[in-house]
Amino acid sequence: TIQQGLGSALKSLRGGTRFTEANMREGLRSVRRALLEADVQLDVANTFVTRVEEAALGREVLKSVRPSEQIVQIVYEELVNLMGPVDSSIRLNSGRPTVLMMCGLQGSGKTTTCGKLARMLHSQGQHPLLVAADLQRPAAIEQLKVLGEQLGIPVHFEDSKNPVSVCQNAMKVAKSQSRNVVILDTAGRLHVDDELMKELEQIDRKVGPDQCILVADSMTGQDAVQSAKSFNDALELDAVILTKLDGDARGGAALSIKEVTGVPIKFVGMGEKLDALEPFRPDGMASRILGMGDVLSLVEKAQEAIDEEEALRQQEKMERGKFDLNDFRTQLERIGQMGSMRSLLEMMPGGLGNMLGEDADPEQELKRVRAMLDSMTPHERAQPDVIGASRRRRIALGSGVQPHEVNGLIKQFEQMRGVMKQMSNMSMMDRMKKLVG
Ligand code: GDP
Ligand code: MG
Repeated sequence: TIQQGLGSALKSLRGGTRFTEANMREGLRSVRRALLEADVQLDVANTFVTRVEEAALGREVLKSVRPSEQIVQIVYEELVNLMGPVDSSIRLNSGRPTVLMMCGLQGSGKTTTCGKLARMLHSQGQHPLLVAADLQRPAAIEQLKVLGEQLGIPVHFEDSKNPVSVCQNAMKVAKSQSRNVVILDTAGRLHVDDELMKELEQIDRKVGPDQCILVADSMTGQDAVQSAKSFNDALELDAVILTKLDGDARGGAALSIKEVTGVPIKFVGMGEKLDALEPFRPDGMASRILGMGDVLSLVEKAQEAIDEEEALRQQEKMERGKFDLNDFRTQLERIGQMGSMRSLLEMMPGGLGNMLGEDADPEQELKRVRAMLDSMTPHERAQPDVIGASRRRRIALGSGVQPHEVNGLIKQFEQMRGVMKQMSNMSMMDRMKKLVG
């Protein structure tokens, strides 16, 4: 049962040791290897590993996991933090067109990604205009025209040698045709060179794009990082889109680019088709990066132990009567991931099952309770006393229930908390009886 689980977790956790250089060594070595195998730049990998090591040194270790395994879990979380958070919305101006300037090396996927973005924005009810500003490659204009036709989205193109004037004219077209997002498909080179940068800087100065977005090929690993740095130095990038992640790229470029430039990765390209654009997910990328070797199974193992520790922490909070609606919400989330609601709820400390009506469908009830909890602020969940009539109305409105139901939830919760406090003095056996009976 959960109670027994907590008991054994408690035993195994007492008297935890601390991280030392020696006991982290093995784990960090495998992390470093995984990073390098994933094509993370050497400097970035070294800095990252050292940073994690320094942060962990002296911290307490869970006794049930070996430090060298737990450090991998910490690395995983650090990777997720470093590559996130992700805001995959594109901020649009009101009143005047938003200009997105796409840049990147030749073959990185710029033109394709222009099409993907235009498609996405169009499906969100926006009115994009694609602009063929790559005048270096003869076929580039044609390629964008074909994409525009496929999507039913207009493309501005000219027979010209001057990309700046093409972009400037496109702005006039956008205004006269009420297009609210202008996507500039600029020229690339095989390598960053001065001529390319000058051209882009000119467009940047004369057209004043709202956002410069770098398109980088994840397959090129280390090169992607160097070019990201040069583009960022010249143009101050706002976002990165990492392409070709449907292939066997190992994802190291994502970490390196974020670490070296600080520019957030917003989307990833997952195929040649125009619908293959997805929001960037740092957790998925962290797994991909660490997925080299068998590092990931260590992460899972450590995570289990950490979950147990969290459960234990909550148990202790309950017993001290400090359990609040934030903790309650965490518990519900946990329960939501498991099967068979009612029996589980009834096994929970304090008989959470009593919070459900007799004939209620537990799944539905649970959804309602969660909706109410989600509509509260963390402060309200920590101190339900502050919830007066107007907050109650707001929470009810936000979760689609009646205000009195919000009241009911809080009252029941307080009763439950009372029971938990009483129980803290009972033996484990008596507790079980009280919970079941
Ligand atoms: P550009 O030179 O930067 O404009 O690059 P293109 O848009 O012409 O793309 C170069 C090649 O990469 C084309 O064959 C695209 O189909 C392909 N491509 C672009 N994005 C992706 C992607 O996310 N996944 C895959 N597999 N191929 C891609
Ligand atoms: Mg192109």
